[in-house]
Amino acid sequence: MTVNKKNKRVWRLYSLNTFFVSLLIFVSVLLAAIATLVYERLKEFDVILDEISTESIPAALHSNRVNSQVNSLTYLIDGLAQSSTQASRRIANREVSAKVSEIMAMIEQHGKDEYLAMHIQSMKDELEHLNRLIDQRLLLDDTINKRKTALYKSYNKIMDFMLSPNHRSNLSPTSFLWTIELADIVATASESLTSERINQVRQINELVDTLLSKQYQSIDNLPEKMKTKATQVTVELQRLLLGESGMINLRSEQLRLMGRSIGRGHFVRNLVTDIANLSEFRSYELNNSIQLETLKTSQRIKQQIKLLGLLSASAVLGLLIAVYMIRHRVVNRLNKLNKKIQSHIDGEPLQVDIRGQDEIADIARSFRYFTRTIEIQQQQLQELSLTDGLTGIANRRALDEHLPTYLQSAIRHHWPVSLLLMDVDYFKPYNDNYGHNKGDECLQQIAKILTRCKRRDEDFVARYGGEEFVFVLPQSDNRGAELVATLLQQAIEEQRIPHEHSLVADHVTMSIGIATFHYDDPISADQLLKNADTALYEAKNLGRNRFVSFIE
Ligand code: GH3
Ligand code: MG
Ligand code: MG
Repeated sequence: MTVNKKNKRVWRLYSLNTFFVSLLIFVSVLLAAIATLVYERLKEFDVILDEISTESIPAALHSNRVNSQVNSLTYLIDGLAQSSTQASRRIANREVSAKVSEIMAMIEQHGKDEYLAMHIQSMKDELEHLNRLIDQRLLLDDTINKRKTALYKSYNKIMDFMLSPNHRSNLSPTSFLWTIELADIVATASESLTSERINQVRQINELVDTLLSKQYQSIDNLPEKMKTKATQVTVELQRLLLGESGMINLRSEQLRLMGRSIGRGHFVRNLVTDIANLSEFRSYELNNSIQLETLKTSQRIKQQIKLLGLLSASAVLGLLIAVYMIRHRVVNRLNKLNKKIQSHIDGEPLQVDIRGQDEIADIARSFRYFTRTIEIQQQQLQELSLTDGLTGIANRRALDEHLPTYLQSAIRHHWPVSLLLMDVDYFKPYNDNYGHNKGDECLQQIAKILTRCKRRDEDFVARYGGEEFVFVLPQSDNRGAELVATLLQQAIEEQRIPHEHSLVADHVTMSIGIATFHYDDPISADQLLKNADTALYEAKNLGRNRFVSFIE
């Protein structure tokens, strides 16, 4: 019965399995690392391309659009600042507001930017302020125009009065001079309207004030008739020209407002330019950050290309090692083992010199072991097939195999071979009376005696069948054979195996037929046996317990 041992998988350091699994893990890890790196870089690239297409390029376009809108806003602001009527101011203001809203919407559409929104809010506040200033300026223009009209009206009145036909005859040099001086005052005051400098206007104001005071004092020198009218006119001129709401003061106020609105206009323009710059800066910043990111990624990619090269080279090296190992450690050794097995099949002795600790060495060892086992078993089987089961000496098959060889070497070496065919006398009655087991024992005893009687190594004893035995004596002629036959019969007799039912003795005896082979007259093994059998038959006939040699 065979015991099935479970094949336990035991981890071994020096096994092909361990080697190839480790190599496979190594190469797989490398390939996974390569794939991950490539994937990561591609993802980064994708993000950057995405940023460029969805942010950088639109931001640049947006910045361009904002810039062109801001430019047109600057023109509109100039238009607002230069408005000469309330209607044109209102139209310009509406256009400015609409443009500002448009720009704000554009900026908001592109994402909330609080800093930019704050700027736009303050620009809006400033625009409102500017609008109010322009409104005030226009109102002032209006008031000044009214004052101017009133001034010229009063001046015309006094001129009309002075130069009226009633007064012309009484016109004294004093009153003429006074009138001229008054005209001079009006002309001086009118100069303030064309002057663009506040300082000059202030000086005009002081001059007109002094001149009017003098004019007022010189009324006393005028004829009585004119005094009232002159006083009225002087007071009227003082009211129109001087004081808080006097025309000259209003003019300087107008100049101040103009200066402020120009300043405010510049300020608003600067704010607008700031907004455009800020928007441009934002886009520049974004582009810059994307450019920086692209640069970093490209540097990382360069580093990783080196790393990838190193990893790929390692993977290729790993694969080359695997190929070399498969060739060197597997294919070559399997080929060698196969050749050894083939030559063993062809009959050469087995020499499997494959050493090592791995599976192929195991196969070679197993093969050596099985070959050895088969050889031993073959030998045992052969021995069994050539041995007689009962007596343990050679059987008839062994005789059939060996006898021709003996005869051939006899021819080759020129020597004779004798053959003794022996038969137990009256063995049937022995069996019948003592039983089959006793018969077997008797045959075993006889085999032992015959074996003991072998004188030379090359002598050959076999059981021929039943109670018959054969003794082959190489290099023995008939004389030698008869001597051996005598010795054998003596040895049997000495054993004295009781046989009460034999008709020739009270113990077991044997009859022997002798035949001799002569190299110079060779016969077959069969013929030699037949000759011995004829001699044996003769011995039986002659009364048994004797030997007879075959004679032609
Ligand atoms: P003879 O003197 O003429 O030889 O007479 P014999 O009785 O010996 O010859 P026979 O041929 O009539 O009988 C041979 C007997 O040998 C028959 C058989 O019972 C016996 N025999 C043959 N082989 C064996 C064996 O293996 N064991 C035993 N116990 N007996 C055997
Ligand atoms: Mg017989
Ligand atoms: Mg017999």
